[in-house]
Amino acid sequence: MCGIIAYTGPKKAINVLLGGLESLEYRGYDSAGVSVLEHGNRIFTYRSAGKLKTLRTLIQNAKSRSQLSGSTGIGHTRWATHGSPNDKNAHPHCDCSGEIVVVHNGIVENFSELRELLTSQGHKFTSETDSETIPHLIEQFSQRGDSLEEAVRKTAVKIKGSNAVVAMSQAEPGKIVALRLGNAGGIAIGHGKGEMFVASDLPALIPNTTTISYLEGGEIAILDENSATFMNLEGESILKDPNKIEYDPISITRGNYPHFMLKEINEQPEAIMSSLRGRLNLEKGIVALEQFPLSQKDIIALKKVVIVGMGTSLHAAMVARYWI
Ligand code: GLU
Repeated sequence: MCGIIAYTGPKKAINVLLGGLESLEYRGYDSAGVSVLEHGNRIFTYRSAGKLKTLRTLIQNAKSRSQLSGSTGIGHTRWATHGSPNDKNAHPHCDCSGEIVVVHNGIVENFSELRELLTSQGHKFTSETDSETIPHLIEQFSQRGDSLEEAVRKTAVKIKGSNAVVAMSQAEPGKIVALRLGNAGGIAIGHGKGEMFVASDLPALIPNTTTISYLEGGEIAILDENSATFMNLEGESILKDPNKIEYDPISITRGNYPHFMLKEINEQPEAIMSSLRGRLNLEKGIVALEQFPLSQKDIIALKKVVIVGMGTSLHAAMVARYWI
């Protein structure tokens, strides 16, 4: 499960974003990135494969040039599903003009049709991800005159699967739009005083605010530093009352479970569903592993398979040995 963080308010967004991503590291990730809307309304994006330390170094080195002092931004730690874990596949992803940026958690199940269609309409893709279809769809609606939230809403109707999306645009400084479709990890909104936050999990919000509201599947949040409004996929506005939550970072990460092992055991069905989502088609009986480098012919020609594991992965390896 990847991590999402977004901020709009008076502070330097970069510090909030990096701090938030660090507190989401426990979720696991292979690459990370941030986009900040600078004064003068230009978006700067930094992305890198590997740990947040690498991203921090990249930003430190670039900082003297661009002075990352903007106060609206989005950030992401990626767990690759479509496209290798490298710099160019790391989020945020942008539209053709670089004016709209998006972070995404989940899988756009119809991404190949969408990508083909968008490419035929002249959109240029720069990554191998399913996620990049989202900023291009938003771009298309924005060009027809839609606001960011309206463009995100219309995009939500076009994409299939469980997805969490956060978007920001140069054209609407200070605005953050978040979308949740189905169950692709959570989207929590943190309500501060004169500042607003979005995160995929509470540990990233708690140091900043304990006033929280949650997006359900099919809901969109529209945030600026002073307000949060909500709507559904039909564009009807929804009222949500934020709740005050207890400040205890450990029990927040642990949820309602008395200890972490029980949490991990109970999260297994969702973890398995997340890794199979978009790869297993039960109706057609097809398993599609896009990144798997061997063809069926290669696999049939294999003489020996060695599976390496230790602890729990050793037990998984023993099951695989039995199946093979
Ligand atoms: N499917 C997206 C990708 O491969 C998002 C993965 C994630 O949830 O981190 O980039």
